[in-house]
Amino acid sequence: MAQISINIKEGSLKKEEVIVGIDLGTTNSLIAIMDAATGNPKAIRDAEAYAIVPSIIHFAADGTVTVGRSAREHLITDPEHTIFSVKRLMGKSYKDIAAYQHHFGYKIIDDDTERLVKIKVYDKFYSPIDLSSLILKELKQRAEKVLNCKINKAVITVPAYFNDAQRQATRDAGKLAGLDVLRIVNEPTAASLAYGLGNTIQDSKTIAVYDLGGGTFDISILRITSAEGSGDFFEVLSTNGDTFLGGDDFDRAIVQHWIEEHGLTESQLSATERQHLRVLAEQAKKHLSTHTHFTEQTDKRTYSISRESFIALIQPFVEKTIACCKQALKDAQLQVEDVETVVLVGGSTRTPFVRDSIAAFFGRPVHDTVDPDEVVALGAAVQADILAGNQKDMLLLDITPLSLGIETMGGLMDVIIPRNTKIPTAAGRQYTTSIDGQSKLKIAVYQGERDLVRDNRKLAEFELTNIPGMPAGLPKIEIVFQIDADGILKVRATELRSGVEQHIEVKPQYGLTEEEMAGMLLDSIKHAKEDMAMRAIVEARVEAQNMIDTCERFIEKNSRMLNETEIAGTRNHLDALRSVLASENKDEIHQHIESLNEFTRPFAERLMDMAISQAMKGKKL
Ligand code: AMP
Repeated sequence: MAQISINIKEGSLKKEEVIVGIDLGTTNSLIAIMDAATGNPKAIRDAEAYAIVPSIIHFAADGTVTVGRSAREHLITDPEHTIFSVKRLMGKSYKDIAAYQHHFGYKIIDDDTERLVKIKVYDKFYSPIDLSSLILKELKQRAEKVLNCKINKAVITVPAYFNDAQRQATRDAGKLAGLDVLRIVNEPTAASLAYGLGNTIQDSKTIAVYDLGGGTFDISILRITSAEGSGDFFEVLSTNGDTFLGGDDFDRAIVQHWIEEHGLTESQLSATERQHLRVLAEQAKKHLSTHTHFTEQTDKRTYSISRESFIALIQPFVEKTIACCKQALKDAQLQVEDVETVVLVGGSTRTPFVRDSIAAFFGRPVHDTVDPDEVVALGAAVQADILAGNQKDMLLLDITPLSLGIETMGGLMDVIIPRNTKIPTAAGRQYTTSIDGQSKLKIAVYQGERDLVRDNRKLAEFELTNIPGMPAGLPKIEIVFQIDADGILKVRATELRSGVEQHIEVKPQYGLTEEEMAGMLLDSIKHAKEDMAMRAIVEARVEAQNMIDTCERFIEKNSRMLNETEIAGTRNHLDALRSVLASENKDEIHQHIESLNEFTRPFAERLMDMAISQAMKGKKL
C-alpha cells in the first residue's frame, strides 16, 4: 500500500511543538526541522557540521552500541557486528531476502515461529525494527542536543513502493525510539515538497522524481492537483527502480577498471587492499564530479582515471535507470513530454553525466538546487510543518494497489475496498450467519484480485464472538474496512442487533515486493475466465448447501403438518442434490436446486398460509 492523505484541517497539534522530519535511508539518514526564523527547512548538523548520519550500527563486545560515522569504521574491522542496509530488511521474511543474503556481512536468522527476519549479534537477536529504532534514537538525540528540547513527534519518509508491512515496521521503529510518528510520507513526495512544489502551482502538474543513491535507484511519477477549496493532492502515479543499482556500482566499476589496468587479479589483493581501492574509487568518482581527471599515487602504484573513461564505465548503469524511467512513464500512461518537472534526489545525481543524461531524456532542465542528500529530509520537515498547522491547504493522497476483502462461503473473495481506491477510505458490508444459534463468525482478511481467497494473500484473521443465539440469517453483521492516512487497514465487525463488536488493526507479517504485486495482478487477468467459472460453481454449491440445510430444518420442524409422500419425496430430492454437491457442473447443481424447489413449493406455500392465518387470528385489523 502506498501513502497517504493528510488533512491539516483536522490537525489538533500545538503550534509551539517541534515536529521533526526524518529521512531513514538505506545508506544514510538525516533529521531536519522547519526553521521558524527563515521559513525554510534545515538539516540538523552535528558539532562537525555533518548532517548525514550513516545508517550503520556497531555492537562492541562490551555492549556499547554506536550509530553513524563511528560505526562505519567498524565495517572493515568488525563486519560481523556492524549492521548496515537494515532498510532492505524492513518488513521482509527470510524467504524474501534469501537470494541476496551474501550482500550482508552479518548473520540473518531464519526464525520459523516469526516469519520476519532477525539479525544475530553475539547471542542476541534483533529485528530490523529494533535496529532501525537505534538509528532513529541517534537522530532524535542529535536533534534534542542541538535544539535543546525534547523531541517526541516525527514525520518519517519511506520509498513510494513500500507496502503496508514495511510502512508499519517503520512506524513501529519510530515508536520504539520514543517517537510518535505522525505520518509516513513517500520519499519522492517529500523531495517535491522540499522544492516547494505543491505550494505555488495553480493547475495540475506532473513530476518525475529521479532518486539515485548509493545502493538503490527509484523513479516515481507524481501528480499534484490543485483542488479548488480543498488544497493540493499529491498522487503517486507509478514507481519503478532497481533495489541494487547505485553509486556503489560506479565505485566497483572503477575498482575493476584499475584492477584490469594494472594487470591484477582479485585474488592477488588482500581484503584491506580491496577495501582501500574501493575507498579510493569513491574518492575518484566524487572528484570527477567537479574535475576532469583524478590521480592518486600510492606506494605501489598510480591510480588515475579521466572523466571520459569514467563516463564509459557508468553509461550502462545510467541507461538502466533510463529504461526504468520509460517503464514508469508507460505504467502511468504518460509520454515523456507530459512530465513538467524533474526533481533529482540522492548523492549519485551529483555526477554530471547522470544529471545531463536525465535532463536530456526528459528534454528539460532538472531541479537540482537543493542538496540531493538532504532534499528528502528537508521535505519531511516541510511535511511536519504542514502537520503542525503552519501551512494550510496541503493534502497528500494515495491509492490502494490491490483489492482488500474477506473470505465468504465456499472460499470466495468478497472485495470490500477495490484496488486503486483513494485513501483514506472506509467501506462496509453486511453479512449474516448460516447456522442457527451460531455464536462465532470467523473473519479472514485477504488482499488480491483473484476470485478464490486461496489464490490471494491472507493478511489477518479474527473471530467475532458472543453473537447472541439467533436463527440463521437473522444476525446483521456489519464488516467495515477502514484505511487510514498512512495506509494502515483496520477491520471492524459488529453484530448490529446486539452491538457485539470486535476489531483488529491489520499488520501483515511480511510484505509483498513490487514484482509480487505485479505478478498478482497479472495472474488475476490470466485466470479471469477460469476464476469466473470457478466462482459460479462455488456459488452454486453454497446455494445448494444452504438449501439442503433449510429443507432439513423445515422438515424437522413441520413433520406433523406434512404427509409421508411429501417427506419422502423431499428426502429423495435432497439426496439427489447432495449427490451433485461436488459436481464441477454448475448447471447440474442448479437443475437439482430447481427441482427440489419445484417439489417443495406447494406444501411450503400451504404451511406459510397456515402460519399467516394463525398469526392473524385474534388480531384486530
Ligand atoms: P545517498 O544514498 O543518497 O546518500 O547517496 C550516496 C551515494 O552518492 C554514494 O554512492 C556516494 O558515493 C555518492 N556521492 C556522494 N557525493 C558524490 C559526488 N560529489 N559525486 C558523485 N557521487 C557522489
